[in-house]
Amino acid sequence: MRALVYKGPGARQLEERPEPTLLQPDDAIVRLRRTTICGTDLHILKGDVPTCLPGTILGHEGVGVIHEAGGAVRGFSPGDHVLISCITSCGRCDYCRKGMYSHCLDGGWILGNRIDGTQAEYVRIPHADFSLHHIPEGADEDALTMLSDILPTGFECGVLNSKVQPGCSVAIVGSGPIGLAALLTAQFFTPAILVVIDPDRHRLEIAQCFGATHVLAPDADTAGLVKGLTGGRGADVVIEAVGIPASFELCEDLVAPGGTIANIGVHGTKVDLHLERLWSHNITITTRLVDTVTTPQLLRAVMSHKLEAATLITHRFRFEDMDQAYDTFGRAADTHAMKVIIEVS
Ligand SMILES: [Zn+2]
Ligand SMILES: [Zn+2]
Repeated sequence: MRALVYKGPGARQLEERPEPTLLQPDDAIVRLRRTTICGTDLHILKGDVPTCLPGTILGHEGVGVIHEAGGAVRGFSPGDHVLISCITSCGRCDYCRKGMYSHCLDGGWILGNRIDGTQAEYVRIPHADFSLHHIPEGADEDALTMLSDILPTGFECGVLNSKVQPGCSVAIVGSGPIGLAALLTAQFFTPAILVVIDPDRHRLEIAQCFGATHVLAPDADTAGLVKGLTGGRGADVVIEAVGIPASFELCEDLVAPGGTIANIGVHGTKVDLHLERLWSHNITITTRLVDTVTTPQLLRAVMSHKLEAATLITHRFRFEDMDQAYDTFGRAADTHAMKVIIEVS
């Protein structure tokens, strides 16, 4: 089969690889129909993710069809159309029983990281019963690809962790795919103010189309402008969707007394925490790796068109044009790429 392989920092290659086989009785082999590229794949390619060894097939998102199911798999049979969760879950360990699948003792984020991933014609899914979801008949499978990772990530790590409430004010720092996923799902709770902050004008225009009430390019007075929109208080909810010190520190400037900073960004360096100012402000800071516990409810929201997941897709490529897909996604400022769909079969 063909697969996109991580070859070490700065290098990837479309290669011919043997098809995966069942290793455990609860494994399934999925034939991919659609996959996509995540910002995390770019982090791996930069060499930022030491758990991903050269030779690993990249990718942790996708939809496909069950090709083969192990003898212990009860919920899925060959021919079933499935959504692959970016998080693998055994369903049995202490963390899984708390719904914290991201920290599963025999799973978590392993696809396209510790084991071969979804940017291939076939992928082995461990613990298939707890790591796959049935796709209803007639569903837009391209749209459902957005449910493997980014929509549950924006919803769980951003919106649910920060407890967005009707009528509250929300500031989202970062208008990339994850920031937009938080923007779309925050609207389930009808906040009064939804301000999105990003230096990229084009991304701010998209945020406006996606329901932002205000958009701002960050500058010296961003905090003052947000205070102006919120009666001088700051935002009740601040969602960090970038992952660099400057963006987290901006969140510390934006949060209202009693508010929450929900971090989604993947941080590679330490960030200053301004407790000399915030110690008395009754704030909450949350962090989380997506657990994908909300995938079934988000799937129903997409099916009923309460959540227009397909709007995140800007480009489409055939699998053989994977290099072009990476190039387009990697130069998002020039190409205006959000999510790219790769048609595998
Ligand atoms: Zn991802
Ligand atoms: Zn587990």
